[in-house]
Amino acid sequence: MGLLASMEDPKLRVEADDKIVIIKDKYPKAKYHFLVLPKEKIPNMKSVNKDHIQLLKHMHDKGTEIAEKSDSNLQFRYGYHAIPSMGQLHLHVISQDFNSPCLKTKKHWNSFVTEYFIDSTEIIKQLEDKGKIEVDKSKNEELLKKNLRCHVCKATQSNMPTLKAHIATHNYNKKK
Ligand code: AMP
Ligand code: ZN
Repeated sequence: MGLLASMEDPKLRVEADDKIVIIKDKYPKAKYHFLVLPKEKIPNMKSVNKDHIQLLKHMHDKGTEIAEKSDSNLQFRYGYHAIPSMGQLHLHVISQDFNSPCLKTKKHWNSFVTEYFIDSTEIIKQLEDKGKIEVDKSKNEELLKKNLRCHVCKATQSNMPTLKAHIATHNYNKKK
């Protein structure tokens, strides 16, 4: 079952308006991990054009709203994966504690802390400047293989268990 089906799943659906649906990510990689999806069927970034600027801005605004409602003391990021694994355009709204049993692999980690994760604001700017979104795929495959590093102090970590123990020691997730 894909994201289009999950948009209709009452167990995952958090809220909706006439343009978007917000669902809980089924395999959350942090304490709070939501996906904001357009109701309009937009398979991926390639199908996004200038006409979607307002929609992408609305998705971003609804993302910041749900983050604030969930925990206004936590830091969040809002962005898109360079190469998504799932169809239907989706904005990740993810708290920066990365405290979740579903966060298991180097690929998971690097997809959220390297440039593989493209900020929503950057996507919107690119769309405004160029009228389309371009992603360098060759570069992005490499990003997922990078050495594990803490997203706060940048210290290198040897494996996922040590990384997870390390990030738990930071008070990074709280807003200053
Ligand atoms: P992406 O790499 O950007 O395509 O991320 C897809 C996200 O969807 C991941 O964070 C998955 O945990 C999540 N996911 C996978 N399958 C489902 C599903 N059926 N319903 C909700 N979320 C899902
Ligand atoms: Zn650190």
